[in-house]
Amino acid sequence: MSGTLYWATRAWIDGRWADAVLLRAGDDGHWAEIHAGTAAPPQAEVLAGPVLPGLVDAHSHAFQRAFAGLSERRDSAQDDFWSWRDRMYRVALRITPEQLRAVAAMLYAELLRGGYTQVCEFHYLQHKVDGRPYADPLALSWALATAAADVGIGLTMLPVLYERAGFTQPALRDDQRRFATDAAAVRALQRGLAGSGRPLLNAGVAIHSLRAAAPASIARLLDGLGEVPIHVHVAEQTAEVDDCLLATGQRPIEWLARHAGLDARWQLVHATHSTREEIDAVAQSGAGVVICPSTEGNLGDGFADLPGWLQAGVPMAIGSDSHVTRAWPEELRWLEYGQRLLHRQRNVSAAPAEGQPATAARLFGRALGAGGTAAGFGRWGLSVGARADLLVLDTQDTSLLGLPAERLLDALVFSSPGRPFRDVMVAGRWAQRDHQPRGGVDIPNRFAVAMRQLWELT
Ligand SMILES: [Zn+2]
Repeated sequence: MSGTLYWATRAWIDGRWADAVLLRAGDDGHWAEIHAGTAAPPQAEVLAGPVLPGLVDAHSHAFQRAFAGLSERRDSAQDDFWSWRDRMYRVALRITPEQLRAVAAMLYAELLRGGYTQVCEFHYLQHKVDGRPYADPLALSWALATAAADVGIGLTMLPVLYERAGFTQPALRDDQRRFATDAAAVRALQRGLAGSGRPLLNAGVAIHSLRAAAPASIARLLDGLGEVPIHVHVAEQTAEVDDCLLATGQRPIEWLARHAGLDARWQLVHATHSTREEIDAVAQSGAGVVICPSTEGNLGDGFADLPGWLQAGVPMAIGSDSHVTRAWPEELRWLEYGQRLLHRQRNVSAAPAEGQPATAARLFGRALGAGGTAAGFGRWGLSVGARADLLVLDTQDTSLLGLPAERLLDALVFSSPGRPFRDVMVAGRWAQRDHQPRGGVDIPNRFAVAMRQLWELT
């Protein structure tokens, strides 16, 4: 029998803990066999703790890792999303391919440590600092792909359609010159990435937002696109909802539902400001939403209608977006805490009537399957045919120490563990062992150099 055998005291399979689990990773990097209730055969590697599937970080702008923690001071009377965006552009306008690779490699090592094994890059940095194209239009995309390969995380690249500064503005602002694309360019970038033959790399497309792309361009992008993920920022800010209403007479999610041909390929990123009718329309379409709790909190976006989206059965992935946090337990905690503060209740996301009284398990289960879809995978998690990814919990971490096994996921999300994931496997290979990432000290060293270069210039 080919492949490699692993055995775990327990593993999270089909939404619950199973005991004494044998897992065989095939030589193709996918699960070939998973059985619970099996004694460990002598040739199996016994894993050091309970096993969870890895999660997809379904929304990332890797370069924004370079100013996490650096926009937390108010230096004008008004500090909101739009003033934050102006600061973000200062990094976007300066970063080189080498610096982007260094920043992204650090980020991706941190994402692995935070329990993600795949990341979706909503990638709109395309051109040189002066706005002219690189000789290879994929120069900055390769910087990200190389960073992902450096640390061993899976990467879904989503080149972004970005052609105008607002609903009534025909072109981009000068400080958006590195982002300029049209539908044909995005399709060419997507083909170049998808056909690269690089392992652990796949590609879909993205539309920056309805304000940044005209309806005719969106239609050209989608024409004959095929079965790849389509991501779009939508309804993150109330100003965007107001502008969309003014320009089209419809709210942004409503416009997408009516005009974009939403289906299961589509991922609506943020979807913060929604109505009951919009949620129902998205549910009928099969599209998913990607909620980014830490970034939405950091930017003061507002609260998504989490009970509404969950109740409607809409697939709900999570993303770390601007990377002010880089671990999914923290994203799920903030997702639930926002709702508790808003509704003045506890365990808002639990569904005892549906047999799921555990908040963490319900949110994790939703994010697991929806994340796989958002990254373009038909199968995801600890199941035969899915990519052989897993997380080994460190039950010696003080926050997990001595807990009953069936409460481990609850504590992982709501007891703020320091270093919960001991080992991380991606496609049958270890990307992190005993808390040590692949790539060693070169990754933080290169990151520190890039950060000094970026910030010395301010
Ligand atoms: Zn974003």
